[in-house]
Amino acid sequence: MGGCVRADQSSVSIKLYYLNNGSARLGFWMRGREYLLPVGIILKALIDTTDREIYVNLTSCYNDKYEKGKGVVGTQLVGERAKIILDEVRNLSLFTRLQCLEYIGEHFQPMMGQSIVNDNFSIKLFSLVDQTSVPDNPDSLQNQEEKLEDWLQKGKKLLQDELQKQSKTFSFGDIIQVKKLMGKNVAKQISTAVENMLKTGRLVTQTGLDLQQRAGYTVMAERLNFLRFLSHFRSVHRGASFAGLRTTTVRKLLPESWGFLCPVHTPDGEPCGLLNHMTCTCKITSFFDSQGNIKKDYSEIKKSILKVLIEVGMTQSLPKLVLPGPPQVLTVLLDGCIVGCIPSSQVEKVVAHIRAFKVSSSEEIPDDLEVGYVPLSMGGAYPGLYLFTSPSRFVRPVRNISIPSDGGKNIELIGPFEQVFMEIRCPDGGDGGRKSSFPATHEEIHPTGMLSVVANLTPWSDHNQSPRNMYQCQMAKQTMAFSSQTIQHRADQKLYHLQTPQSPIVRTSAYTKYSIDEFPTGTNAIVAVLSYTGYDMEDAMILNKSAVERGMFHGQIYQTETVDLTDQSRKSDRSSRMFKKSNVEKYACPSLDSDGLPHVGQIIRPDEPYCSIFNEVTSSTHNLKKKGSEPVYVDYVAVDVKNKKHLQKVNIRFRHPRNPVIGDKFSSRHGQKGVCSQLWPDIDMPFSGTTGMRPDLIINPHAFPSRMTIAMLLESVAAKGGSIRGEFVDATPFRNSVKKEGEESGSKSGSLVDELGLKLKEKGFNYHGLEVLYSGVYGTELTCEIFIGPVYYQRLRHMVSDKYQVRSTGTIDQVTRQPIKGRKRGGGIRFGEMERDSLLAHGAAYLLHDRLHTCSDYHIADVCSLCGSMLNTTFIQPLKRPVREIGGLPPGRAPKKVMCHACKTSKGMETVAMPYVFRYLAAELAAMNIKMTLKLNNGAGA
Ligand SMILES: [Zn+2]
Repeated sequence: MGGCVRADQSSVSIKLYYLNNGSARLGFWMRGREYLLPVGIILKALIDTTDREIYVNLTSCYNDKYEKGKGVVGTQLVGERAKIILDEVRNLSLFTRLQCLEYIGEHFQPMMGQSIVNDNFSIKLFSLVDQTSVPDNPDSLQNQEEKLEDWLQKGKKLLQDELQKQSKTFSFGDIIQVKKLMGKNVAKQISTAVENMLKTGRLVTQTGLDLQQRAGYTVMAERLNFLRFLSHFRSVHRGASFAGLRTTTVRKLLPESWGFLCPVHTPDGEPCGLLNHMTCTCKITSFFDSQGNIKKDYSEIKKSILKVLIEVGMTQSLPKLVLPGPPQVLTVLLDGCIVGCIPSSQVEKVVAHIRAFKVSSSEEIPDDLEVGYVPLSMGGAYPGLYLFTSPSRFVRPVRNISIPSDGGKNIELIGPFEQVFMEIRCPDGGDGGRKSSFPATHEEIHPTGMLSVVANLTPWSDHNQSPRNMYQCQMAKQTMAFSSQTIQHRADQKLYHLQTPQSPIVRTSAYTKYSIDEFPTGTNAIVAVLSYTGYDMEDAMILNKSAVERGMFHGQIYQTETVDLTDQSRKSDRSSRMFKKSNVEKYACPSLDSDGLPHVGQIIRPDEPYCSIFNEVTSSTHNLKKKGSEPVYVDYVAVDVKNKKHLQKVNIRFRHPRNPVIGDKFSSRHGQKGVCSQLWPDIDMPFSGTTGMRPDLIINPHAFPSRMTIAMLLESVAAKGGSIRGEFVDATPFRNSVKKEGEESGSKSGSLVDELGLKLKEKGFNYHGLEVLYSGVYGTELTCEIFIGPVYYQRLRHMVSDKYQVRSTGTIDQVTRQPIKGRKRGGGIRFGEMERDSLLAHGAAYLLHDRLHTCSDYHIADVCSLCGSMLNTTFIQPLKRPVREIGGLPPGRAPKKVMCHACKTSKGMETVAMPYVFRYLAAELAAMNIKMTLKLNNGAGA
């Protein structure tokens, strides 16, 4: 598959099929159908050329002399195939370009053919035709059809990723990038389409735009906390269409993505490997600088690059010029178009020269130019020099060590395409055992450059088992944190806020770099690792109730309701509606002020009105009531005064208190999550023999052996030392492995534990962070020393108050008369087969009967015992007799009489209690002409 891209970034992806007879077809999608054209016609139609030229071009990469040498791509069959391709065109009696164009115009449709794709060949064929079709103007294919025009128009900005096909990375979900593109767009129709796409992630087109999916193009930026917000802007989604694939290849971490996509920061489960995040150093190239100004004209950049290339010895290619192929000379491609060729012997010099230009930030060569030099090799990618200047490519900085560094001036931006062909060494001074044969030209700046921003915040993540770091990336994004500095002015739909956040004692260098202190995500809790009272089993944890009462992990949810009267009313009575409390019910809702709005600080209970709307025309009042099951506080009422006449729009912000309760979820920064199982008062917590301190939090020692989160233990020791000495501890991962300036490689300073342990020992504490604890209940010494120290804990957004479900009776399904599901509607949780089995095993028959029958779809049906039917019953209408009233007593109601419609008698009628679905089943079966009969016997079991 390949892509055809115009200068305006619109594109069509084309497929090349190899036919078993040696010919090839060019396939492309238009309006949802795939069309296949013989390759020969295309080649002829593109430019005025002769058969000989095409033949020479097709076979240029194959040469008998070089058969065994490096860089030979084709095989001997190339010549024969080229002949077949040309013969095909001749058989159709097409000789000139004009004839070919006419042919394409006439016979456009029924080209769907018997194309049997042969993988093995098509790869070779691909490299072959790629070579020949590129020197021609790739646009011309699209220009032939006017129909394509509107199609291209709409797709314009959306097809950026075609450029990245080579790097096998998609960057569609990236909002920033798409937004930037939007700025360039003039046509209104497109901008609305793009706007709509950005809002909903859905792309509405008539054609399908040869994209594989219609929805899910954008990631919604959520402000749950700052880290989530930030990572949504740096996420890359491969597309929903890949999620359906059963293969694992698309999810693999490819070497090309090293340094561009974070190997740690991807969700586990279904979207694993499809939803990636850019590393902290990765950038996206753009025409615009950070201020939004256009950097430089695109065509001028191209011109200046060409100038430099010609200066260093490139022969410019001209149309109709037969090009010699590799291995003598290598072709130079600029943004996919062949611009010339360079003798193979000089290419490496040229590449070094261009790179030097790049680094020196000169005018001629942009610093984000990608210099993909594919060297001659046996059976690899097609050799050549590929240059890319286009926007929306990934780039990342590395150090170019072939250029002397004076003041960090040797930082070069490299792209994913060129990276594969470069020798970049790690900054630990090692060479991976290939120094002698492949001397490195570049060096990574720091190992943390391969991690995303969020993954970079995990202290000593190099000491953890890797899945734990992945879990932490997920959990950091669900943390209830200090979400915004301007929370009092915000009107977000839902905002989680931690009231008493702290700055972590143990932190990475990235923490300071990204100023996470502005949006802290947790609290330094004193954590004791011990099994105490049994309430810390299975990842449960005991919280110190007194610490919670002092404010630890306190938080709330802010939720804003927008009431816009202009939205709800029709045009006619727009002015008649206003916020006002009705005069009649003046004392009915005390929570509302006379303007129909609540007081700030007012508590509003479930089903109480929080806003009153008065209609002047009908003099009626409409009260908006608070849904939900808990009381909330009115935090802020914002009025929109744009409308001079009447107040028409208000934002009412509610505050849901969410202080920690049993069942809330917490986690350390090492993927160690747990649920609070008990809020234990201070006096019952164990206390330290030396300091008298009591832990804020107790976790079970079993959390460590299988999960191997060594960094959490290190964090505890380090934070203890740090808090005693009053200093923050640097916990940047790979810190010790980076070779420092002037340091000999291989010389290892003491281990991390030694460094941290000594700090504790200096101050009279146990070297390993252990302490003697006394039982809070008995006052006796615990039989072993306990590991205790501060660990930065996060409070996750999953809280019981938002999740618990209670139901005795309530809404039922209309068809089955069983309870509905859904917490919002007061429904129940499914009591399924497995739950039923468990109750059966316990012998809890009465409970089972209660859950599955009495509290579900209890029903009393009339069944005819003679014919066994329960559907044939009809009520007997009592005869209408003149009602005789006796002494003021109400008329005695005649007993309900039922009879069988089939048996024409009410003799055998019985009442049977059954689940209603059973009756429903009988009715459904009857609709399919299946009769269901019941055999009744009395309960005694006769
Ligand atoms: Zn009957």
